[in-house]
Amino acid sequence: MIIFADKISYKKYSLKFKHEWRISRGSLEQKKIIVIEISSDKITGYGESAPSSHYNENVDTSLNFFKKAESIIFESNLLNYRELIDRVSNIAPGEFSAKAAIDMAILDLISKKLQIPLYSFLGINKKNTPLTSFSIGIDSLDMIEKKIKEAEKFPILKIKVGHAEDEKMIKFIRKITDKPLYVDANEGWINPDIAINKINWLQKMGVLLVEQPMPANLIDEMIYVKEKTTLPLIADENITTTADIFKAKDGFHGINIKLMKCGGITEAIKMITIAKFFNLRTMIGCMIESSLAISAAAQISPLIDYADLDGNLLISNDPYKNGVKVTDGKLILSDNIGIGVNEKST
Ligand code: MG
Repeated sequence: MIIFADKISYKKYSLKFKHEWRISRGSLEQKKIIVIEISSDKITGYGESAPSSHYNENVDTSLNFFKKAESIIFESNLLNYRELIDRVSNIAPGEFSAKAAIDMAILDLISKKLQIPLYSFLGINKKNTPLTSFSIGIDSLDMIEKKIKEAEKFPILKIKVGHAEDEKMIKFIRKITDKPLYVDANEGWINPDIAINKINWLQKMGVLLVEQPMPANLIDEMIYVKEKTTLPLIADENITTTADIFKAKDGFHGINIKLMKCGGITEAIKMITIAKFFNLRTMIGCMIESSLAISAAAQISPLIDYADLDGNLLISNDPYKNGVKVTDGKLILSDNIGIGVNEKST
């Protein structure tokens, strides 16, 4: 069987937030994404790039990268996708969200051609999807209370910390709910002894794990923090692709894998394999993304320990439908072919 692409096109969207989104680095009101559509005989695979300025990426750098990749995509049998993805990766360093979009579109197209869901193409049992947490951004206490009420159906909440009011906010949340919490400091604690005190206190407050307590360059300090605490510590900003796992493994108990950081599903599966070899736990996370990229990440979620796939639930104008659903916090994959999403306008 041979699958050749006969058309490549692009669509840009501006995703609007239901609420203003704040983390320790700043705030956002909308998020621009670009979707690559790769077609073969009128069947189209969709791939989303949700670029982050934190990694010096935006929709224009993504589009530039797509243009450079077009000739490789057109001349390849898409079924040989691992070879193709390697070639695309080598076009230029970085541009991981664009690389993720190409990987996503090709896997969506192949599995649609084969008329099976992407998870089936990858040999993954859809029944083993994990629970996903629901993220509550930094906000006024009133807004936090409102957001927690909106998240009633989610059994685990993820709270953004790493600012001066951490304790006040967690105490306030504990008055409203006794649900287990994940917390994400987004590199917000600079001093290792402060990080240790915070982590030990958070453990007493019913927190299950802490993501990226300290800046990514302080790996020796993280090794010290890990020795002095017992909560699982998950690396996020410390981890981009497989190459970073070896450096981070001594300072953390697990890694947060995101398609937009690592360059796609193919790379993410490699990372899961390597993380398991080092006895690290795995989390699959996301940026603010539409349900296209979230549904793509959900395809591999049965392979991991923790999921934080709520980026599409924080936006009000998702361009896609029929993707992954969440029932009582559990990710539910459909039987649709490919990634399983359709454009809302069609
Ligand atoms: Mg994080």
